[in-house]
Amino acid sequence: MCEVIVLFSGYSTKLDNGTMKANCSCTLIKASKNIIVDTMTAWDREKIIQALAEHNITPDKVDYVVCTHSHADHIGNNNLFLNAEHIVGTCVHRGELFFDKSFKNGEYQICSEVKVITTPGHTADDVSVLVETIISGKSICFAITGDLFEKEEDILNSSIWKELGTMELQKTQSHMRSHVINLANFIIPGHGQMFAVTDDMRKTIKNQIIVS
Ligand SMILES: [Zn+2]
Repeated sequence: MCEVIVLFSGYSTKLDNGTMKANCSCTLIKASKNIIVDTMTAWDREKIIQALAEHNITPDKVDYVVCTHSHADHIGNNNLFLNAEHIVGTCVHRGELFFDKSFKNGEYQICSEVKVITTPGHTADDVSVLVETIISGKSICFAITGDLFEKEEDILNSSIWKELGTMELQKTQSHMRSHVINLANFIIPGHGQMFAVTDDMRKTIKNQIIVS
């Protein structure tokens, strides 16, 4: 049994002057290990410390930091967690030690309930975190996807993820989105609130797979 707690829901909006105002979702997983997924911008240090305290966790009790990719709004407070192993995209390290064998066949199992999988598209190096847990006797999968899914709205309006992603990887991202939404019951996207996955969403995403 483990808990998935969204400490902060991400957002992104374009201001009138063209500037993007954005921050990422920051998620705490309490499993046999304590795991933080995405650490927001460098300006959010105190917010994160406070949010963790509300769940009786201090930064030194975090075992793993996962950054879904290495953009500035997802890695800003990694140095708050110096007792943790850091997984930034597919780069796994602790301090000056870099472990290049950690991802086997595109997966890195952190503990029995939690694994990191490669989900390229937004960047070539994106990863998502899958959490398997039991709720009311039913097995439930949470996918913390970073910007593979920007927000729920990008399912009906695919220009949202396409404009923010890597042009050459759009086809890859379309496949990865379908793969992940088929595994997940809930998605925590990079810049929006957690949402429950429906069969209609899965169909829509399947129809968006770029074939040629
Ligand atoms: Zn982002």
